Amino acid sequence: MEISKQIRLLIKKYSLYPSKRLGQSFLIDRSAIFYIRDAINPVSDRIYLEIGPGFLFITNSVAERAKKIIAIEKDKRFEPYYEDARHENIEIVMQDALKVDFSQWDVEELFGNIPFNISSPLIVKIAKTKIINRAVLLFQKEFAKRLLAGPGNKDYGSITIFTDFFFKKQFLKTFPPHFFYPMPLVSSTLVAFVRRTDIQSVDEDLLFRIVKGAFSKRRKTLFNTLKKDFDGDILKNAIIDAGLPIEIRGENLSLEEFIRVSKNLY
Ligand code: SAH
Repeated sequence: MEISKQIRLLIKKYSLYPSKRLGQSFLIDRSAIFYIRDAINPVSDRIYLEIGPGFLFITNSVAERAKKIIAIEKDKRFEPYYEDARHENIEIVMQDALKVDFSQWDVEELFGNIPFNISSPLIVKIAKTKIINRAVLLFQKEFAKRLLAGPGNKDYGSITIFTDFFFKKQFLKTFPPHFFYPMPLVSSTLVAFVRRTDIQSVDEDLLFRIVKGAFSKRRKTLFNTLKKDFDGDILKNAIIDAGLPIEIRGENLSLEEFIRVSKNLY
């Protein structure tokens, strides 16, 4: 039976009418599910964390090849379904993924077709959870563009630089709206993250404060956006000594350049 049909029947049977607030949009294309599974490339001796398993279609496909999946689902309405759909190597945790501590489990890898409204806080959380070395996540295409943009691009921003600092990122594939039910307005893009092993030792709080400041007013120069927070001369020297023109805008700096400026300000 087609997945879309199965999901429509399950929605009826368990009165699980898709919630917009919880970003519920279920993947119903079998080839896309296989594509995601292959991108995760599960191995039989590893445990994987999943965010937002929903009706477990991606979960089951990955579980066939993995030691175990720990899946975190916030919507309590799924509980009766999970009782019926028990699976030996899938452990469901009924909690908000933004509130649980991932490091309580012996996991290094994470995946999910996640709700769009938690994309940003979730990626920040993953970055800060040092035991997670790899993630394969499906985002709204527009958000994926922001993650993958380069300096000077209109989509380039603080989330790009934040994720650049922690991960090597790879665009994998874009899936059209009709691969999901209910059908969203926009396409979704699968992105892989691998934690960098060459993370530089910098004052991260200072670095990200500078990055945030730099993007708070896009049309202003880096110097003008930061001068309220730093001494003018020190700031000027920090920019010049980083090898940058004083009139450069924040949106044109690479991660490396932001790091150089922030080291000069430390
Ligand atoms: N992975 C499934 C479901 C995707 S819809 C599929 O591809 O078909 C997104 C899922 O995330 C839903 O099941 C929703 O209930 C769940 N969810 C939403 N917010 C969450 C949160 N904060 N923590 C964990 N799960 C969440």
